[in-house]
Amino acid sequence: MRYVSTRGGADPQRFTDILLEGLAPDGGLFVPAAVPRFSAGELSALRGKPYADLACAVLSRFIDDIPAADLKALVARTYTRYAFGSDEIAPLATLEPGLHILELSNGPTLAFKDMAMQFLGNLFEYALAKRGAEINILGATSGDTGSAAEYAMRGKRGIRVFMLSPQGRMSAFQSAQMYSLQDANIFNVAVQGVFDDCQDIVKAVSGDAQFKAQRKIGSVNSINWARIAAQVVYYFWGYLRATRSDAEQVSFAVPTGNFGNIYAGHVARCMGLPVKQLVLATNENDVLDEFFRTGRYRVRASAEVKATSSPSMDIAKASNFERYVFDLVGRDPARVMDLWKQLEREGFFDLSGSADFARVAVTGFVSGSSSHSDRIATIRRVFERYGRMVDTHTADGIKVGLEYRETGVPLVCLETAQPAKFADAIREALGREPVRPKGYENIEALPQRLQVIEPDAAAVKRYIEAHAG
Ligand SMILES: *Cc1c(COP(=O)(O)O)cnc(C)c1O
Repeated sequence: MRYVSTRGGADPQRFTDILLEGLAPDGGLFVPAAVPRFSAGELSALRGKPYADLACAVLSRFIDDIPAADLKALVARTYTRYAFGSDEIAPLATLEPGLHILELSNGPTLAFKDMAMQFLGNLFEYALAKRGAEINILGATSGDTGSAAEYAMRGKRGIRVFMLSPQGRMSAFQSAQMYSLQDANIFNVAVQGVFDDCQDIVKAVSGDAQFKAQRKIGSVNSINWARIAAQVVYYFWGYLRATRSDAEQVSFAVPTGNFGNIYAGHVARCMGLPVKQLVLATNENDVLDEFFRTGRYRVRASAEVKATSSPSMDIAKASNFERYVFDLVGRDPARVMDLWKQLEREGFFDLSGSADFARVAVTGFVSGSSSHSDRIATIRRVFERYGRMVDTHTADGIKVGLEYRETGVPLVCLETAQPAKFADAIREALGREPVRPKGYENIEALPQRLQVIEPDAAAVKRYIEAHAG
């Protein structure tokens, strides 16, 4: 298995070579040169296997330069009852016949990002130890990503995490989740500014090539291929749980921001998983819904991004989208290069009316968007009808998923976070507090460990220098 850049300007690489990289050197994203396929027989053979075995079967198709026994051990150490609360890891809950919720948010930070990030933590530690190397992960978070990264990397040898967060802008629960970590390799940096300030600082620090090399700065953002690969696994899992035979198809409803989660669904479908539709749901920040409705992809300025009650989907552009467009244009890197040049110049490209856009139907994608009142109504409806509380992001997915539901095709709605993380919306919808999972009852009362810093890249660099060893 070799990985190539969507823009065609990088030498083919092996998995462990791209593992610790961000963008390809030509500015593109790494994708497999050819997507591995599961035959019908191979798919049936996976029925009834535990999650970790399934994960090995899928991941080994993408990771062929780590010895099988080592990969098996890494996976076994990741997908445990201890970390994910049950032997199922990602239980499939049935609301009514043909309508399911795939629970992806039972990991330590109560959001689906744990499903991949927990694996990444073990994988990074393993790969760094092999090379005798270290890494200082620098990131910016508005909530979920930062905590998923910190919980995945805490206590890992060779890894330090410097996570910038906007001081006083996260929910009390989210801040407590991150700031209460006492591990010596985790550094919470509360920036006196907004999320964009944090992101600008990360860009400025990573853009200083000398500092980056000297201080071994790395990242764990959503374009990391290992995260995508680990997310492919739960599409197989959800499919196998929702069906009895491989003659059946299912559709997935996916609340979407950076296009990482649903892109993994696209990869699973390309691998031969019988997926009918991939239903993409956005919130009020509908960049992607606009593309799938019209063929026009217009990125937003940060000032245009609306702050919504499903905040983990508040995006100006979708980082992983380039990988999907690579497939739409028939895997032609020159075409991708042209489109992204236009995007940089003019802020949009338009595929409407083209043969490329016609391929969208072949990939099974359909889309819709959901507003604040939609998600409140959906939370209420799901609670009244099925007695189940869902969070705002999951509600966006269910809302749009139901619009496309077809008789005879099971609809699997991905649960991306637990309601406890977004208590305000639950109060508004249901007039009560969300249930808190065991162990999180008094999280806000725990002692917190953080450094407050002015919104200045030089100050952050000094802080990293003082703590990066
Ligand atoms: C990150 C996140 C999303 C969006 O996932 P993408 O991979 O960025 O599309 C949706 N819901 C929750 C709760 C998230 O944390």
